[in-house]
Amino acid sequence: MRARYKPWALDFLKENEKFVKLNPSDWKNKWQTAFENDHPIHLEIGTGKGQFLMGMAKQFPNTNFIGIEVVESILVSAVQKAVETTPENVCFINEDAKDLRTMFEDNEIDKIYLNFSDPWPKARHAKRRLTHETFLEQYKQVLKKNGEVVLKTDNRQLFDYSVESFSQFGMKIEEVLLDLHEIEDPTNVMTEYEEKFSSKGQPIYRCRAQF
Ligand code: SAM
Repeated sequence: MRARYKPWALDFLKENEKFVKLNPSDWKNKWQTAFENDHPIHLEIGTGKGQFLMGMAKQFPNTNFIGIEVVESILVSAVQKAVETTPENVCFINEDAKDLRTMFEDNEIDKIYLNFSDPWPKARHAKRRLTHETFLEQYKQVLKKNGEVVLKTDNRQLFDYSVESFSQFGMKIEEVLLDLHEIEDPTNVMTEYEEKFSSKGQPIYRCRAQF
């Protein structure tokens, strides 16, 4: 996802601490306190401009949603959406997801979404894929027992790699869809990339896998 460099982005994130946790490690094991309830916590990694997270938060008001996005100039678009609609169940983290264990305690998260993650097609970059086993180790730790990872992508290579990676890690593959929009799923919330690719007629792949 590309975004124009916004020199004001960091200041904007700092000004909106209701929605942005700038020191997420301070909230480790206290995320329910941040939301002031004991509802389940779902995490989206690479949340981009936040359309999915905001749509999910509206559809599921009794779930808390946290979006992690490493690029601050992109995250500002997500935070702007939250500032406009003031949801009680959304917050954002401006960090790289490689350090999830510094931000979340074991068993603190109920579900993880990976939406249109960067495919990193070159073999030498495989470790950067968000479904590489080094990431799966982290997910397993921060997720509750039987926690679920849900992946959506337009990229067949990343999809095949990810399903295999889940399987090799010993996860239970619960769903493999090769054309998500062919089925009726009223709970599906489209991401920005999903809208872009499906409008061009490209199939969207979805996999749900459980530890
Ligand atoms: N999820 C959005 C969607 O489906 O429209 C955005 C998809 S975009 C291709 C991938 C996003 O993930 C980018 O905004 C990128 O900056 C972010 N990202 C990639 N690797 C990340 C990481 N390790 N930690 C946090 N964000 C990451």
